[in-house]
Amino acid sequence: MNAHKAAPLHLDAVVVGTGFGGMYMLHRLRGRGLTVKAFETGKDVGGTWYWNRYPGARCDVESVEYQYGFSAEIARDWTWSERYACQPEIMKYADYVAKRLDLRKDIQFNTRVTSAIYDEASQRWTVETDQGDVVIAQFCIMATGCLSASRVPDFEGRDTFAGDTYHTGNWPHEGVDFTGKRVAVIGTGSSGVQSIPIIAAQAERLFVFQRTPNFSLPALNGPMDPAYVEDMRENFMAARARARATNSGSFMQANDQSVFDVDEEERRRNFEMRWEKGGFAFVTSYKDVMNKLEANKLASEFVRNKIRQVVDDPKVADLLTPTNHPLGTKRLCLDTNYYQTYNLPHVSLVDIADRPIERITSAGVVVAGEEYKVDAIVFATGFDAMTGALLRIDIRGKGGLTLQEKWEGGPRTYLGLAVSGFPNLFTITGPGSPSVLVNVIIAVEQHSDWIMDCIDHMRANGLSVIEAETDAEDRWVDHVNEKADETLYPMADSWYVGANVPGKPRVFMPYVGGFANYDNICKDVAANGYRGFSLA
Ligand code: NAP
Repeated sequence: MNAHKAAPLHLDAVVVGTGFGGMYMLHRLRGRGLTVKAFETGKDVGGTWYWNRYPGARCDVESVEYQYGFSAEIARDWTWSERYACQPEIMKYADYVAKRLDLRKDIQFNTRVTSAIYDEASQRWTVETDQGDVVIAQFCIMATGCLSASRVPDFEGRDTFAGDTYHTGNWPHEGVDFTGKRVAVIGTGSSGVQSIPIIAAQAERLFVFQRTPNFSLPALNGPMDPAYVEDMRENFMAARARARATNSGSFMQANDQSVFDVDEEERRRNFEMRWEKGGFAFVTSYKDVMNKLEANKLASEFVRNKIRQVVDDPKVADLLTPTNHPLGTKRLCLDTNYYQTYNLPHVSLVDIADRPIERITSAGVVVAGEEYKVDAIVFATGFDAMTGALLRIDIRGKGGLTLQEKWEGGPRTYLGLAVSGFPNLFTITGPGSPSVLVNVIIAVEQHSDWIMDCIDHMRANGLSVIEAETDAEDRWVDHVNEKADETLYPMADSWYVGANVPGKPRVFMPYVGGFANYDNICKDVAANGYRGFSLA
């Protein structure tokens, strides 16, 4: 229930959420002299990193890339300690940026936005919160994140469990000590894959409940090479500019050859060389790995063999080996000692592919009539991705149309930035934009900059309302689907298509056409008088 309503505050803009997207958007809007306030459910900035404090939480984009690129000074004065930054270090970085830009003074923490309702007569959004705030603003910018609405499946008896339960995406701040405990982990996506080895190192007994084996590549994390740190201090901005001009939006050197341009021996050498580098470099081994099934099969088989080499028990190795989707079509995981963990005598893999969890009892988890007795259950069961955080807010556009109604058949946006029928509402990394398929920091910067330029344009031209046209939105949705269909991605039951949430419409949500291509489309739209938008 909402707290007592305060008198309305009139502002130019409201930003919802202060992960890396909301933080930068706030900085940009304020820098242009707009009156703006950001609301954040958490007690601090950091977004997904604020919530995902599970053991082993670590970014799978290299730390030097997972930082802002808008300020040479901010980049130069920060030093990462490891190749892949752990969650606490990313929170330190978020704190460093928040302090440097003095962001917190315009953020209201511990506050959830409950509704955003557009009034056509006044052309203003009324935004309300669970703390009783009422803000009336010209622009409403949703920086709610792609992976922020965590979900625990509705297992029968879930609430009867007598022990402790945790979700990786909403982890206690004080941490959890599993020493001497019997633990169940349900889910083997990135969060499960990262946390399982650490939980195994503490727990007396660990049961991992796996519905779908995922492909995981070795992170080969380690301390940063001091020479590289110095090189990046000098050259980061240039490297970032080069990355922004690529479709992966990353520093990775993609190989432009086809798998079939080389013989078997050369292919094996290249796969091995990229495997040895660690990280996602392996996926860029050949240009057709993600769009030709025969090419993908070769890469997939290479990884399957690696799994078989690591896992001692051939039956367990078989269960851990993904066979029902091409490599990379479900989000790839990066791990440290994930597969090795299954060689430990106190760790058991429970296959629930064809025999789902029957129920949860007060004592544990039941599968095929067998009760696995545990003291704690960790749900590593993921998120209502890309749309969940937006749809949990009561958003109403023209004519009282709710976003839920508008997106009944799946999300529809223009450029992943705007929704027809919802004027002056922008979505940072909304569905239909590259978002989760690229380095998300680059994605949020590009969106925030585009939105800022758009607002500048409106102000310079005496315009007060911008709205995506339905035709342009329809064409964009078709284009997003066409691009996805050129790849192997739609073959998997992934969260990219909403398959992890029962009843969610199956729509491929991110834009797979590449970061540079997308950026150019956005620039071209702006350069052509905001083609596909109506402005008044
Ligand atoms: P996820 O990838 O969606 O994995 C959820 C896991 O829970 C899957 O194994 C899923 O099985 C299982 N599951 C869901 N519902 C279930 C049910 N009813 N019964 C049994 N099993 C069920 O979620 P996540 O691991 O939290 O990762 C989400 C995304 O967040 C990642 O893909 C990544 O983009 C991001 N992330 C990034 C990092 C990083 O930077 N290192 C770390 C963590 C997360 P199915 O596969 O069969 O659905």
